[in-house]
Amino acid sequence: MPKPYGQWELMRPDELEAVLKSAPVAYVPLGTYEHHGWHLPVCFDGIKAHELCLRMAKRTGGAVLPTFFYGTGGGHIGYKWTIIVPEAQITPLIETTLDHLARFGFKVVVLFTGHYAGEQVAMVHRLAKEAAQRHPHTRFLAVTDPEITTPLPGDTVGGDHAAKYETSIAMALNARWVRMELLTEGRKPSQVTLPETPRKEGTQYDPAHPLYGIWGQDPRQHASRDIGNRVVNEMVNRVAQAVEQALAAD
Ligand SMILES: [Zn+2]
Repeated sequence: MPKPYGQWELMRPDELEAVLKSAPVAYVPLGTYEHHGWHLPVCFDGIKAHELCLRMAKRTGGAVLPTFFYGTGGGHIGYKWTIIVPEAQITPLIETTLDHLARFGFKVVVLFTGHYAGEQVAMVHRLAKEAAQRHPHTRFLAVTDPEITTPLPGDTVGGDHAAKYETSIAMALNARWVRMELLTEGRKPSQVTLPETPRKEGTQYDPAHPLYGIWGQDPRQHASRDIGNRVVNEMVNRVAQAVEQALAAD
């Protein structure tokens, strides 16, 4: 029988209780507000994480919390539409949330961050480790895309910023998120940068270039729904397996 799962914000107390009883797993998707090229939504990391968590929860059962969109770190801090928050402002809210989840009785808590700047990845791993020390009866798993994605042949890492990997994942999760035709050239600096944006050399820093803000392989040539499906399936399988093992370890 499939285990109950759902989106926390839409669930009623009895429904959450049913989840807790048969699949005590809470998914906490995290992202950030960050320019993701002209073709993807600015909060892509968070909507990606939420949709992936839903697919994982469908497999394992569990409740998916509303996305925690405030994230830290990364190279887009001076870009328009980007809101990067100091870690110290974020962690108390996440810590309190994790404490509540443990007190409710969740046995497994997955922190899945779709934003994987080094600072953010270090933060979620640290938060998971510290929460485990406070709550020894709950397993806290921290994870992000490149940690559970096998790079495609010829690639060294299974992740990027709004390039081949993220665009492919978007195509697989929800085709309406992707507007490749918006990757046009000739944008003006005032459309995209704030005065304090650091100026560097390179395609991704030239507002007039179609690949402005993108890091990785050109999604126009390299992204595909097939790649996205492969990556999404691998991520969902790996996390679902880890969650099931953690549940069984009790
Ligand atoms: Zn991203």
